[in-house]
Amino acid sequence: MRYVSTRGEAPARDFPGVLLAGLAEDGGLFVPETWPSLAAAEWRAMRGLPYPELAARIVGLFTGGTIPEAALRRMTEEAYASFNHPAVAPLVQLDTRTFALELFHGPTLAFKDMAMQLLGRLFDHVLAERGERVTIVGATSGDTGSAAIEACRDRANIDIVILHPQGRTSEVQRRQMTTVLSSNVHNLAVEGDFDTCQDLVKAMFADAPFRREMNLSAVNSINWARVAAQIPYYAYAALALGAPERPVAVSVPTGNFGNVLAAWAARKMGLPIERLIISSNRNDILPRFFTANDMSARPVEPSLSPSMDIQVSSNFERLLFELLDRDPAATAQAMRSFRETGRMPVPDAAWQRAAELFRGVALDDAGTLEEMRRVHAATGWLPDPHSATATHAARALAPEDPAIPVIVAATAHPAKFPDAAEQAVGFRPALPPHLADLFTREERLELLPGDLAQVEAAVRRHARRNRA
Ligand SMILES: *Cc1c(COP(=O)(O)O)cnc(C)c1O
Repeated sequence: MRYVSTRGEAPARDFPGVLLAGLAEDGGLFVPETWPSLAAAEWRAMRGLPYPELAARIVGLFTGGTIPEAALRRMTEEAYASFNHPAVAPLVQLDTRTFALELFHGPTLAFKDMAMQLLGRLFDHVLAERGERVTIVGATSGDTGSAAIEACRDRANIDIVILHPQGRTSEVQRRQMTTVLSSNVHNLAVEGDFDTCQDLVKAMFADAPFRREMNLSAVNSINWARVAAQIPYYAYAALALGAPERPVAVSVPTGNFGNVLAAWAARKMGLPIERLIISSNRNDILPRFFTANDMSARPVEPSLSPSMDIQVSSNFERLLFELLDRDPAATAQAMRSFRETGRMPVPDAAWQRAAELFRGVALDDAGTLEEMRRVHAATGWLPDPHSATATHAARALAPEDPAIPVIVAATAHPAKFPDAAEQAVGFRPALPPHLADLFTREERLELLPGDLAQVEAAVRRHARRNRA
């Protein structure tokens, strides 16, 4: 299995190459040269498998023999052993046809753990094989930092340094990062805001000698392996609900388009997903695209669902590439004009094909609170604000045939958003047992000014690479 860049100017790579590179050298995203596809009997044979086993089989279709089967199986078993539910990703029925797929039973209570827990282990495995070490650096406004830290903690060949804006994350978010006391985890609280942190990370990557010396790397959402590791849970849910004989639909709260792209990939691999419903908050660029071919960026506005406060959905480029019949020059051109004008021109015929499959709808904050209240009153199950946009979208945009079940991706535990929950239903959901003592755990962090030289010095102090 080889991977090509959506922009066509970077050499093809194998799975480990794509894993370590993240972004292609030409600025494009890696996609499989050809999509693996399974026959109905092969899907059926996976029904009822424990999640780690299913995940190893599906991810194994994308590794192209570069990772031994037994090693991959060990990694998925370890990755999902830390999850707080025996099913890993259980389904909860909300009405006759709507099912919440709970993706938040991992260590940080959000769906990013589903991919990141495996990614950290894949990184470590490939690095050990190559006798290499990396220093992962990243900036976070809250959630992605903790998922990355949990994924990389205690991995032998990785050091991770996460910058967060001092005093500007919630206490839960900060403590989820700073109470991880593993020797390869380093939290820098930077004076400034999220953009200060982001700029410092960009500057470190742009500092070529420093980048080389530290062997800097990132685990951001454009990494193909993250998408690959998100495909299994759609198969798991669809099989449980009767696929491949019975078609299903999915409803996914969408920001960077990674999660729903994984559902699209599952469909491409032969799973009968009839419809892909996306939801957003008031930052509604994606619903506007799928309803009116209007992909135009507007300023980002804060909302109750911060992980969707996004105007540029980086993984969308992978779908665009497919919509444009895998024409890398046309993809590069569309991305260039989006960057230059804030508007992405997509030919009508290509958009039509997308619109046949995808539906999208946005929900503002008041609607989100109302939806949280409604679902909780009707079922006793409380969605977090992100998931609430998706339960709403599932109701609004479900296929006409009521025999088609809708799988709603429940992307975060409601306890991660206690203020929104309190506004919606009048109580703050309890943290699950494994985080119950979060507020009394010891924290470790280093406070630094927003100064590149000082931040680089801190990274250099922490990176074991330097001392090997
Ligand atoms: C990251 C995130 C999303 C958006 O997922 P994408 O893959 O970026 O579309 C939705 N909900 C929650 C809770 C998230 O953390």
